[in-house]
Amino acid sequence: MIPVVKTIDEVRQYVKLWRKEGKTVGLVPTMGYLHEGHKSLIERAVKENDCVVVSDFVNPTQFGPNEDFETYPRDIQADAVLCEAAGAKLIFNPEPSEMYHDALTTVSVDKITKVLCGKTRPTHFNGVCTVVSKLFNIVMPDKAYFGQKDAQQLCVVKKMVKDLNFDIEIVGCPIIREADGLAKSSRNTYLSAEERKAALCLSRSLKLGRSMIESGETNAAKITQAMKADINKEPLARIDYVEIVNIETLEPAVDASGHILAAMAVYIGKTRLIDNFMID
Ligand code: AMP
Repeated sequence: MIPVVKTIDEVRQYVKLWRKEGKTVGLVPTMGYLHEGHKSLIERAVKENDCVVVSDFVNPTQFGPNEDFETYPRDIQADAVLCEAAGAKLIFNPEPSEMYHDALTTVSVDKITKVLCGKTRPTHFNGVCTVVSKLFNIVMPDKAYFGQKDAQQLCVVKKMVKDLNFDIEIVGCPIIREADGLAKSSRNTYLSAEERKAALCLSRSLKLGRSMIESGETNAAKITQAMKADINKEPLARIDYVEIVNIETLEPAVDASGHILAAMAVYIGKTRLIDNFMID
């Protein structure tokens, strides 16, 4: 069975051994409760690297005070089964105390963390950038894998790696969906049966936006308006944001014809779901 280690030292011992053997190393950072979306990242990493480390850590610093850190689902046994099946070599599953004691240092990326999800989650990306930097320094991978599901996170991590000269290739991987279109997410487990149906309004409105673009509409405001109207037909949904932005700068796009990210966050009951599509 795949080893599950709790300490930074143990991870470093494994990686040191692999490096001595001349092996390449891939990293897939996750918060656990793994599903097919995570699995696709791990499988891609296994294809492209000799040894793959999956970090499985519900990172407290990326949750706001009124968010779901305590209740976030956890199941390390099931995660180990999935990682093993996907071909990973090691799981790093630290306690918060292993990752943080009396730390005075954080990593923050300006500007692109203040928009989209950053508006309602003002401390979220500081937590993400800090933990991802730490994981990069602990594992020192050649490549690290992130899902396009968290498009802003991918954009922020890419910028951080460029700005801080991490010698790591960031690989973005496509969104994996349920058969009916809902993007897979560990948070989908919060949804009641009725909410699960209502949650389809996210992917449905993205489909609408994409088809408007494909049939020649370039006015971003017109497209987001139509997408919002579509979501608002669903009584259990409450929009946080629906925006079309430049794929790199995350600045609002006027023209939706290319190099854009159409992103949304929508509450279904108490659960906040995100989804997006990109046209590059
Ligand atoms: P999380 O455990 O939610 O922090 O996600 C860990 C990584 O898996 C992130 O890079 C996510 O973008 C990625 N991920 C989560 N859900 C999906 C999905 N449905 N499809 C592709 N990647 C995903």
